[in-house]
Formats: sequence, C-alpha cells, structure tokens
Amino acid sequence: MVFLFCGGDVVKQFWSPNSINKNKAMVENLQNHGVITSDEVAKAMEAVDRGVFVPDPSSAYVDSPMSIGYNATISAPHMHAMCLQLLEKNLKPGMRVLDVGSGTGYLTACFAVMVGPEGRCVGVEHIPELVASSMKNIEASAASPLVKQGSLAVHVGDGRQGWAEFAPYDAIHVGAAAPEIPEALIDQLKPGGRLVIPVGNIFQDLKVVDKNSDGSVSIKSETSVRYVPLTSREAQLRGD
Ligand code: SAH
Repeated sequence: MVFLFCGGDVVKQFWSPNSINKNKAMVENLQNHGVITSDEVAKAMEAVDRGVFVPDPSSAYVDSPMSIGYNATISAPHMHAMCLQLLEKNLKPGMRVLDVGSGTGYLTACFAVMVGPEGRCVGVEHIPELVASSMKNIEASAASPLVKQGSLAVHVGDGRQGWAEFAPYDAIHVGAAAPEIPEALIDQLKPGGRLVIPVGNIFQDLKVVDKNSDGSVSIKSETSVRYVPLTSREAQLRGD
C-alpha cells in the first residue's frame, strides 16, 4: 500500500502491485477453503482491493473483523465472501442491489462490480462520516468508474427503511444485526429477490429470505454470526 499526501489529505492508491498481490492471495485462500466457489465472486473480490477500505492496511488481508470507528466494524473477509456467495444469483449484470449498513463501502463496491454499469447498487449508512469516507474508498477502488457513470451511490439514511427510490431490488444485504427482519426490506424485495440479514441480539443467525413469485417469503438460517446492531444512530454512538 502506498500513501500520497495531497493538500493535507491522505490518498490511498489502489494500484499498488504489492497490495493487489496480497488481495489476490486472500481471495485464493478463501477459494482453497471452499468459502468462495463462484468465479464471479472471486473476480469481484480480486478487483476490489480490501486494503483500500480498511483503517489499518497492514492487516487488511487477515481474516478477521476490524474496528472502523463509531462503534462499527468491517466484517472479516470470509463473512463478506459468504454473503457474496449467498447473493451471487441475484448479483448478475443489470440487477439491482441494496447494501444496508454499508460502513466502509467494501461490500458495496463488490456488489456494484458484479451488477455492472447496467445494474444499480445503492448503499445506505446512518453515520454521515462513514458515508463520506466510504465514497473516498470507493473512488480509490475498481468501482470508481461506476460512481461516475451513475450506477453506484451511497446515501445517509436509516437502513431499516431500505431505500425506496430504486426498489424493488434483486438482492438486499444487511451488514448489521436486526432484532427482527424490517418489513420495509421485505417490501422492497422483487419476487425472486433475496435478502441476507443477521437477526438477533446476543445470539444471532444469518437469515436468508427469498421472496416467492406470489409475494410470500421463505426464510432459512444459514449460520450463527456476530454483527454490530442495526439500530438508531444515537444508540450506536452511545454504544448501547
Ligand atoms: N458491511 C459493512 C458493515 C459495517 S458494520 C462493512 O463491512 O464495512 C455495520 C454498519 O451498519 C455500521 O457502519 C453502522 O453504522 C451501520 N448501521 C447500523 N444501524 C444502521 C441503520 N439503522 N441504518 C443504516 N446503517 C446502520
């Protein structure tokens, strides 16, 4: 990773060959362990250098979560890979995806690369400072052209309400644990669409919610997980 100082600001360079190689090795490791099985997921994670998105680039490629301030964390690479895998069929070029609790913007960028310029990727995050830094991260990543072209944007908002402007979505990902599945997110899912959301308080399950063609939903539990809560901005900043 190379840092350039411009007008007092730190600009992270995504082209650093060293970081690209480490990122590729991280993806290969996840493939070797069977976490990534899809070529599209591997390509997206290879294209989007995780080192650009984390506060401490020296441990960017280690398989563990990391604090990003504001009582939030960036998930571990294997959790990002698992969510991309679960949503893969709903991330085809031209599809629409919503990323609730977009944090650093890492997964948002992977989603955007997968749905491409004909698709639409919307991030919603309730900490304005994280929205601002995630946009800088995204602009230093392989997803940058999609921002300029208009298919990728991150908004400040309460993600429990989803983002109605571009609904319905083929895929919705939630990066924070909800006490129960927000109704608005099910409403904003297309028939055939899939929502991946951690649900629970201390004990959490990663739930996969599929909307059927008649509008009913099928819900299954994928695995036990530990995410920060999907809550109000005030409660999060208090650390409740
Ligand atoms: N996928 C992100 C996860 C960040 S942690 C990443 O890996 O970088 C979860 C994020 O959800 C935090 O950034 C937190 O600020 C955000 N969040 C929590 N409750 C929210 C809400 N009600 N609306 C929008 N964002 C929320």
